[in-house]
Amino acid sequence: METQELKKAGLKVTLPRVKILEILERAEDHHLSAEMIYRQLLEAGEEIGLATVYRVLTQFEGAGLVNRHHFEGNQAVFELERGGHHDHIVCVKCGRVEEFVDPVIEERQRAIAEERGFRIKDHALIIYGECKDEACPYDTHTDEDDD
Ligand SMILES: [Zn+2]
Ligand SMILES: [Zn+2]
Repeated sequence: METQELKKAGLKVTLPRVKILEILERAEDHHLSAEMIYRQLLEAGEEIGLATVYRVLTQFEGAGLVNRHHFEGNQAVFELERGGHHDHIVCVKCGRVEEFVDPVIEERQRAIAEERGFRIKDHALIIYGECKDEACPYDTHTDEDDD
């Protein structure tokens, strides 16, 4: 099934591509960094280097299979293109990502664009917060490194 998807996307079927696509499709958390994928490959005993993971993800992005997000303060994360729009809320401490779609927000954006003479082609709304998850590791990111 991954094989067909790769072919449909115009990519040659290689082991790293199949394995990485598998991980993205089975992931409970839809937003994975290259390192998270690399670690899962290691655990599964696959000898695929981090550089290859980055390369494959970039190829997937180019082929429209995945979307890359650069959430503030976090590593880039990748998610499968599943069609259908959604927005994100991100924890600035632990990087936890949740997805949401709110019809009222969507409608307001359409109205705002309309009033200003635009037809929306795309939009991205990201809410940054601190999650209330007790497991949120508050000390993984230092506030020192401002860029
Ligand atoms: Zn998402
Ligand atoms: Zn958190």
